[in-house]
Amino acid sequence: MNLESWIDIPAHSDFSIYNIPFGIYSDVDITYRACTRIGDYVIDLYELSNAGFFDDIDKHLASAFENKYLNDFISKGKHITSLVRKRIQELLLKENNSLQSQKHLHSKVLKPIHEVKILLPLQIGDYTDFYSSEYHATNVGKMFRDPNNALLPNWKHLPVGYHGRSSSIFVSPHSFYRPNGQTKPADADKPVFGPTKLLDFELETAFVVGKSTEQGQIIPVNQAKDYIFGMVLFNDWSARDIQTWEYQPLGPFLAKNFASTISPWIVTLEALEPFFIEPHFEQIPSPLPYLQQKNRKSLDINLEVFIRTQNGTETLICQSNNKYLYWTMEQQLAHHTINGCPVNIGDLMASGTISGPEPHQYGSMLELTWKGTQPIKLSNGEERKFIQDGDTVIIKGYAQKGPIRVGFGECMATVLPAKTLHFN
Ligand code: MN
Repeated sequence: MNLESWIDIPAHSDFSIYNIPFGIYSDVDITYRACTRIGDYVIDLYELSNAGFFDDIDKHLASAFENKYLNDFISKGKHITSLVRKRIQELLLKENNSLQSQKHLHSKVLKPIHEVKILLPLQIGDYTDFYSSEYHATNVGKMFRDPNNALLPNWKHLPVGYHGRSSSIFVSPHSFYRPNGQTKPADADKPVFGPTKLLDFELETAFVVGKSTEQGQIIPVNQAKDYIFGMVLFNDWSARDIQTWEYQPLGPFLAKNFASTISPWIVTLEALEPFFIEPHFEQIPSPLPYLQQKNRKSLDINLEVFIRTQNGTETLICQSNNKYLYWTMEQQLAHHTINGCPVNIGDLMASGTISGPEPHQYGSMLELTWKGTQPIKLSNGEERKFIQDGDTVIIKGYAQKGPIRVGFGECMATVLPAKTLHFN
């Protein structure tokens, strides 16, 4: 049966009644509060809580909602957060009168999206980036190593990852300065300093850890879902020329820690449940027992990337899908904790660039232009090898099954010219 709301929701909205994501907002009166979104409205959860709508679930939700971050709310546990989400969904149903009829509450509870600012929803303690798309890892291996042995020997045995930095994760929309750094041009014998010439995006998704662990504790792969609160879109901005020069032997450093962008709404795993499908990849060879997942599924989320130039022209440059990940979120989390590494509520774990098998499904400029050798054409006639100053990169993502549509909104950031630096 289709669910209908008494709130007017635009057709194809990412924020249907099936979604009910969580975020943090501010406006002229409110410094910060937890909210959800339906259509083009945000719903103030503190006000809903004060009006008593969650009293039978948890009487103390108001303080979790009058908060700069969602961490306190998430720490209540899924048995509470999923009931809250269900309750909000019920309150918004056409046939439910309890909020609908209390018109005096509407102006406090329901706010048009254009009148609020959506803030970074999480206090992110730690951030890890995986490398879990086989098509992406294969493309990179072909470009930089051996086309016949594109994947390194460990790749099909463990979800490769590195520790990133949470200090530079920003919420969409934002802008950031093009990074300066060391690069070594191929024909030079010494490194040079200056703005990166090869600024790239990476199309990724990320999941939010919803339950903390102690040192020494592992998360069994078949219980890992309980530890995942929800997901966001993620752009792991990368400076390819800095990366090439710095990355050996310890991996990415300054090439990736200047800025990453997340979409502002945390879409819960409950909302994404209908979109788990049969796995896109068979895992051969079979991974070690701690990574063998019963009932392993792929998550079918359509992903798109657009470049918007300074004059406002927008071009769709990539159409991929989250299902092209080889390793699942559960396997990533099981692997991350198998050595006893503790994880905390609010930690973010990104997927790695998600490329599909076809060239228009490649999730980075590096692949789309094949290292800059095949520039892409924008709809205003300009060409791009990599991302230029003034460009805005927008990632969109949504899952759809019949009438059920659940989306993430936009993950968007604009590149500012590098700061000019002077040294004595
Ligand atoms: Mn990445």
